Amino acid sequence: MHRNKKIIYTAHCVLNQNSVIRDWERAAGAFNDIVRVLLDNNIAIIQLPCPEFTFLGEDRPPKTKEEYDIPEFRNVCKELAEKVVVQMKEYKNNGYQIIGIVGIHGSPSCDILGDRGVFKEELLALMEKENIILNCFDILDSYIEGETNNLVDSFRTYINTSLLENI
Ligand code: SF4
Repeated sequence: MHRNKKIIYTAHCVLNQNSVIRDWERAAGAFNDIVRVLLDNNIAIIQLPCPEFTFLGEDRPPKTKEEYDIPEFRNVCKELAEKVVVQMKEYKNNGYQIIGIVGIHGSPSCDILGDRGVFKEELLALMEKENIILNCFDILDSYIEGETNNLVDSFRTYINTSLLENI
């Protein structure tokens, strides 16, 4: 057996919907159909930390990006992001292919491609400093596990494209 050195970073809640605001979960556990695409391609999954859970815990109220955009939360996000980028560099320096990074559309912390969340602002800024540019994908806020097949198709296309681009 040998490792194929392909990894992807996902928002924490892609693998653990227990981390989202109470009653906002969209799966019983993980986004299984999304994860299955990764498993089928033998892509190893690195789960990013959940910044909101870290900052306010499990029983936290919904907040806007403006409400989260305060120095205390930015510092938490920056500290979490620094640890992630150190590991990204280590993987890249050792010949690993980082397929991409998966965010959550509409999240005040983890949106990447829309109104970028606070955590992803800090993370992508640090990555840019280290010249780490990755293909990004956001899980739409309309996604419900087991019901939203067209998003799974889009995700599969994103993965196939990213795999080819990085060869
Ligand atoms: S802060 Fe990010 S990882 Fe945590 S529940 Fe919200 S979108 Fe998911």
